[in-house]
Amino acid sequence: MHRTVVIGAILGGLVVAAAGESAGAPNAPWMDARLSPDRRADLVLQRMSLDDEIGLLHSDFPLFLRLLPPGVMKSAGYVPGIPRLGVPALHESDASLGVANAGRDDDDATPLPSGLALASTWSASLAFDGGAMIGKEARQKGFNVMLAGGVNLLRDPHNGRNFEYLGEDPLLAGTLDGASIRGIQSQHVISTAKHFVINDQETGRESLSANITEAALRESDLLAFELAIETGNPGSVMCSYNRINGVYACENPLLMTALKRDWGWRGWVMSDWGAVHSLKSATAGLDQESGQQLDKQVFFDKPLKQAVTAGEIPASRVRDMAHRILRSLFAIGVIDHPLSPGGLDTVADAAVSARVAEQGIVLLKNQGGLLPLTARGGEIVVIGSHANVGVLSGGGSSQVIPSGSIRFPAPKGAPAWGAGVVYHPSSPLKAIQARAGGAEVRYNDGTDPAVAAALAKGADVAVVFAHQWATEGVDVSLTLPDDQDALIEAVAAANPRTIVVLETGGPVLMPWLDKVGTVLEAWYPGARGGDAIAGVLYGQIDPSGRLAASFPASEDTSPHGEPAAASPAPIAVDYDEGSDVGYRWYAKTGRKPLFPFGYGLSYTSFRYGALKAKGGRRLSVSFRVANTGARAGIETPQVYLSRGPVRRRQRLIGWSRVALAPGESRRVTIVADPRLLANWNDRAHGWSLDGGAYEVFVGPNSAEASLKGRARLQPASLRP
Ligand code: BGC
Repeated sequence: MHRTVVIGAILGGLVVAAAGESAGAPNAPWMDARLSPDRRADLVLQRMSLDDEIGLLHSDFPLFLRLLPPGVMKSAGYVPGIPRLGVPALHESDASLGVANAGRDDDDATPLPSGLALASTWSASLAFDGGAMIGKEARQKGFNVMLAGGVNLLRDPHNGRNFEYLGEDPLLAGTLDGASIRGIQSQHVISTAKHFVINDQETGRESLSANITEAALRESDLLAFELAIETGNPGSVMCSYNRINGVYACENPLLMTALKRDWGWRGWVMSDWGAVHSLKSATAGLDQESGQQLDKQVFFDKPLKQAVTAGEIPASRVRDMAHRILRSLFAIGVIDHPLSPGGLDTVADAAVSARVAEQGIVLLKNQGGLLPLTARGGEIVVIGSHANVGVLSGGGSSQVIPSGSIRFPAPKGAPAWGAGVVYHPSSPLKAIQARAGGAEVRYNDGTDPAVAAALAKGADVAVVFAHQWATEGVDVSLTLPDDQDALIEAVAAANPRTIVVLETGGPVLMPWLDKVGTVLEAWYPGARGGDAIAGVLYGQIDPSGRLAASFPASEDTSPHGEPAAASPAPIAVDYDEGSDVGYRWYAKTGRKPLFPFGYGLSYTSFRYGALKAKGGRRLSVSFRVANTGARAGIETPQVYLSRGPVRRRQRLIGWSRVALAPGESRRVTIVADPRLLANWNDRAHGWSLDGGAYEVFVGPNSAEASLKGRARLQPASLRP
């Protein structure tokens, strides 16, 4: 059924305000869209006083305000506009997984699956579509800035925010994040790459020092941003809470230099909420103080003005800060396409979310072809994780709560400001029932393993749903909570035809893996998650998701144990693995993950052949991939560097998603970005590509070389 949600009272004031703000602008010289965004920004600036400029440089946190200014929504950020010049107010909302709507009770929104689900699709076009969908909803609600674009690498499987991000590899994360940013900005809504940078755990995030060498940072977390910014060209970047080698991100000259000078990016840097500690950040390169109510004091208002008046901060710097904001507003079309809020098309939007879920679900194990299920008689028992009502979502600022969501109190230890544990209203049980044909489908809540096992015993198949809730603000354990391992063991002991469906924020341990028939990783699957899961279970959708993160076999097969508890003194987190994050670390140390990065099964089978590697100035690798099974499917062959001229080092250098009918084959060619093969050279302040032989392999995941090749490359020095 087509459902249109009319946003009423909340936005009424905004429409008026937006119309008022454009007064005076149409004939202004900066409204000439043929001029460059920089020129247009300069023209507006000529009419602005220092106070006007400073007014753009600090934002309110409306969710925190008792009294909202007229036309302002309860959301993450608001910066008043300059009506006499037609500069619109900035209405900012979280985040990458949809338009966060906590605090706005009558406001519906469509949740995308988690970032890790999206990353598991390995599909830039799905990332674009997801971005365009949330950008469109943002506009319809009256937001022109999305705090979306989380690209922190999954360095530590314990990170409570891994579900918002795009996995452990800079090329994969950067490519998909760039596409999602482009999608959002295609709707004339600014997107924000965040959290810049290496905010890779939640424990102690506001003060911890992430310690790492510059070279390692450039080859890993910074590279993910570099690629995302290059492809997406976001209007803004959000600097993170943490310190890097002792210096806060928002006042860290190294980071700002990389961003603004090395990469030549022209947008504005906004702080994370409560991440500004002094005016030093203004000189270092921060352009806007966000969520000003959360800082010790509002630095980018009176203190900034005083510093300019006293000559401590040049007026040109403040002008540059304002210029960057205005420039983005012109470049992304925010000023040329004023907001005109309207109704949502939640059916079309949920269809986008469904496609991401369907293609991001990863089949991890399928013993004896237990899946796909066929619709026939018999009995199916569905157990646990509120599968009768919906699918799990992640908590924190990115939380989207569509109407009909089911909420449970958050477990002990979760931040008090959250919305609790939210299940999106797409019931896997109902979706299974709808496909089960003549089978009897029964549900048990899984709270008593003995009862669940007794039910499973006589059934043809038992489907156990297992959950790991994650939220911004705290890190997670890799062990499933609520004794679910015991539940799975008990059910599997009663019925070997046990299918485990995981709804987790990230990697978890699976001590029961040998005892169950099938494991499906469904992540947090969003608005139509229940249907997507059932579609894969019944083979209407061939599983094509591939892991964007390695799954450790035990706590001690991941580079980081449980994060040290936060303490009053800032903690230090030493990223000794350097740029060898995830699969690179496994390859380097020779350890075996439970499931490697890139891994995922299909209901059909594929064969690779005929590899050719060419060198010279660029490395190019081509090969054939064929569907050798009886069903259509999508394969994602991955190309890895395994050894450079000097040493062994594994790097993902490309992939392709190839949809193949049975018997069909296709040739794929990957040309590697030289930065993925090079080393960062501190002295040269650039990339150095050694001349010599480069060994590569092609395979279905990071631990399986189906084809090997080598080619010689000329040495090169590359500018950052
Ligand atoms: C989060 C950001 C978010 C901001 C505004 C912060 O706590 O780290 O990701 O955009 O809040 O809600």
